[in-house]
Amino acid sequence: MTATRPLRSELCDLVAAVRAYVEWQGVLGTTGFPRLGRGGGAVPAVDSAAVERRVASVPVSEPGGESRSDPAPLPPSPPRPAVAEPTGSRAEPGTGTATTPVVFPGAAPVVAAASEARSPSGAGREQSETAARDGEAVRSRLAVLQREVAACTACRLHLGRHHSVFARGMGTSGICFVGEGPGAEEDAQGVPFVGAAGQLLDRMIAGMGLRRDEVYICNIVKCRPPENRRPQPDEMAACRQFLEQQLELIDPEVMVALGATAVQGLFDTTEGITRIRGRWRLYRGRIAVMPTFHPAYVLRTPAARRDVWNDLKEVLRHVGREIPGRSP
Ligand code: SF4
Repeated sequence: MTATRPLRSELCDLVAAVRAYVEWQGVLGTTGFPRLGRGGGAVPAVDSAAVERRVASVPVSEPGGESRSDPAPLPPSPPRPAVAEPTGSRAEPGTGTATTPVVFPGAAPVVAAASEARSPSGAGREQSETAARDGEAVRSRLAVLQREVAACTACRLHLGRHHSVFARGMGTSGICFVGEGPGAEEDAQGVPFVGAAGQLLDRMIAGMGLRRDEVYICNIVKCRPPENRRPQPDEMAACRQFLEQQLELIDPEVMVALGATAVQGLFDTTEGITRIRGRWRLYRGRIAVMPTFHPAYVLRTPAARRDVWNDLKEVLRHVGREIPGRSP
């Protein structure tokens, strides 16, 4: 730069040169320059000779004149300045290199697009799409499993069934109720817990602040034992594979085992329900199980209602839900 040129003209040329350089960097995809650390350090390798040439090539306007020609193209670009990529990451202590990037206005759309791709809304959308796909896959596999159950002849209970009884609800609350086996009403309709005990269970679920379809309800055995007798150990063992697959697919956070037979079917134990109700157990080392009385028992023994409600409140606490003020 020459000292004989008017200061105003020189400043105009410098600004033009800097602007051209910045635009060129934008074309190259640079999104920012690092600031220098307090202790100095690596300076972006600006080609000062090129800037000088660029300045020298710009026609000098007369003093007082406002006009100037458009900036000429910069000479062939030097290698991209040897600066750290403007990732925004903090440099290692002592290197004196990049800390906070300066973002070019022209690069904003690129930055915004990248930011949108990483934004919670973008991630949330992706997660919900994945969840929808997973949900569809689970429903599809459950439907296949239900057809297998309907065709099952693995134990003697298939001989007397009208319908196998697979499950009801989707378990979106993370809560799964496991009962003993279908009764006459369930056998007739092919749906679990639709008789008087089922209606009480529905009231309990409503009392928990949940909709019927927010819980998953299934049984230890899928076919009705004759005369409403308890399923026998070999029948429970034969049917266990279906229950295990259901639980694998539904993946509940917590299960409520309704009655002694449900507890026995899950844990292969002979402990009485009165002794073990209200005490958490762990199914397969990962799913919390709350044993409680069967609704049919509660119908016969109304005093047991309070115990069941206390157990259900524990379940709500476990899944982090609000405890309704009144028992069902
Ligand atoms: S109770 Fe279970 S194992 Fe027995 S026939 Fe029905 S589905 Fe099969």
